[in-house]
Amino acid sequence: MQSVAAAVCAVPVLLLAWRLGGTYLDRYFTRKLTVLCELDDIGNPRPDNKRIQGTAVICGGSIAGLWTARIAADHFEDVAVVEPEPWLATEEGQSNTFDADGTPIESRRENIRTRVMQYTSVHIFQPLALLALRKLFPNVDEEVKNADGRIAAYEVNGHAFGRPIMKIPMHEYPDGNYPECLFMTRELYERLLRRLVTQSSKRIRWVVGTATGINTVPGDPTTLSSVTIRTPEGNGEKIPAALVIDCTGGTQAGLKWLRRIAADTVNTETLQKCAPAGALSWDDVKIEYSTAQPYIVYRFYVPPEARAKLPIPGGYENNIWPYMYMPVPGVERKIFMMNRIEGHRFNIAFCGWGAPPMPMDFDSIKDWFKNFSIDHQKIPEWILPLLDILLEYKDQCEILTGKYSDPSWLRFERAPYVPSNFIAIGDAVMRVNPVFGQGCSKATIGALALDGFLKSSSYANLTTIPAGFGREFFKMHKNKIESIWDGTKPTDYMWDTTRPVKGEKHSDEWLNGVLGNIVMDLAGRDPEVDAALFKVRFFLGPSTALLAPHLLVKIIAFAVRQKLGLVPA
Ligand SMILES: Cc1cc2nc3c(=O)[nH]c(=O)nc-3n(C[C@H](O)[C@H](O)[C@H](O)COP(=O)(O)OP(=O)(O)OC[C@H]3O[C@@H](n4cnc5c(N)ncnc54)[C@H](O)[C@@H]3O)c2cc1C
Repeated sequence: MQSVAAAVCAVPVLLLAWRLGGTYLDRYFTRKLTVLCELDDIGNPRPDNKRIQGTAVICGGSIAGLWTARIAADHFEDVAVVEPEPWLATEEGQSNTFDADGTPIESRRENIRTRVMQYTSVHIFQPLALLALRKLFPNVDEEVKNADGRIAAYEVNGHAFGRPIMKIPMHEYPDGNYPECLFMTRELYERLLRRLVTQSSKRIRWVVGTATGINTVPGDPTTLSSVTIRTPEGNGEKIPAALVIDCTGGTQAGLKWLRRIAADTVNTETLQKCAPAGALSWDDVKIEYSTAQPYIVYRFYVPPEARAKLPIPGGYENNIWPYMYMPVPGVERKIFMMNRIEGHRFNIAFCGWGAPPMPMDFDSIKDWFKNFSIDHQKIPEWILPLLDILLEYKDQCEILTGKYSDPSWLRFERAPYVPSNFIAIGDAVMRVNPVFGQGCSKATIGALALDGFLKSSSYANLTTIPAGFGREFFKMHKNKIESIWDGTKPTDYMWDTTRPVKGEKHSDEWLNGVLGNIVMDLAGRDPEVDAALFKVRFFLGPSTALLAPHLLVKIIAFAVRQKLGLVPA
């Protein structure tokens, strides 16, 4: 009798412990694996007498460089952004290309980025960027509106396994404060960000030039003294640096600079002493694989008389991203998406793993869709009539082609040598498959992580960058971005057209890939799993959210039922 009573009493205690434990773990992983805690405190600058002395030299003035410049301006006395493309330093580099009505602004869009090949390709931005922008720039909504960009619920009508997935879990936002995001071209995002950032602080200055190397303090290779740049006139100059931040994107210049210093025999003895246990060899710091993904985008102009006629669910004005199709990994290879952008233009983009057949001219677009009945997904009925209307205006359609960059990860935290005052953010550290649309968020995450790091108790009161800062930053940063790599590589490996990382096999990621498929399939059927996937994929929760016990039970049960053939298609 006593033992029954004890068991009954133990139940609420266990439930409470379970709940408290879950809350603790959730907080722990949110702090460690996301930048949601950092987000709360961005935009609060250091007092002037506590600023880090000298200049934060940011190499690269694109997405990562701009986010980082805004954050660095809250901590350093001076911020220099080194960027080779001269027009970015002019008014043109920060101007809108369309007015609020979507009318092209004369003389804009004459310049195009020459070093950022994805400048014109379709981009999707996650809610994280908007959350941070609204904290840093209270006028951002107005600015977006004035440029014919859009801010709306983060609804991109993604479909996988024949069902809509990653829908906003509206029931979790009863106050109506659901995640929103920016809908615009990458071109406008970059120009807008540049305007907001450069106008936000007098401490930020723009330097036209190419960073060609970094220099160490004489006799101390662990500390950098300056960045060497080549000016447009071809002259070499040195910019003294308190902290060097590599934001050179796909150029990934930082790794080359570090290797150059490490290879100098003058430094060998000192650097050997500093190399951490378990450091990788230089050749192993960078890992990369290839997904072989060409793309083609048809960018239609939609004239006023056609807008109301377009048979988009919800109407042209309201449905900004009407469809995105994700194939079953490993089964089908094609992917397509449709979205509206500023200037009354409508994108239809085709891509796929291992270069699947894509419609390469206007005549083949409809046939491509007509033959589209794969992995139990059917195209919505409104797409063919939509094409009929858009194709009437094909004379005003831009066609953009290119190839997705191969994913790569520079594991600086385990490099043989990292100077104390060197860090890297954005694609300079990691490039992931663009299909998943996470690259720009990764840059935002890096900048927010830097803000939190500089505000942590170890550094908040220092006015110089201490020994070991660079490596500690990379260790912390890795925790925040690792899930992006781990969450996409297994899916990429499901296709045999993917060339794995040197020394790896497709089968190394088989289990993770299969689990990913199970979660995606279940997400289309179970709102709770879908809500967790939404948060994890869009950086609104830690990746561990999918491991919550009640979700794990659902995932395992689904996998078993699937194995037994009990799951309807
Ligand atoms: C086809 C395609 C589609 C994509 N779609 C999406 C998407 O939908 N959503 C998303 O979030 N991400 C997407 N991405 C990824 C996203 O574009 C990148 O992650 C993002 O641009 C990274 O920004 P970054 O500033 O790190 O690098 P970049 O944008 O590559 O910028 C690097 C900057 O460094 C400068 N630079 C280079 N070398 C030097 C040097 N030596 N000295 C000084 N400056 C230098 C360059 O001029 C450039 O300004 C896509 C990528 C591709 C290729």
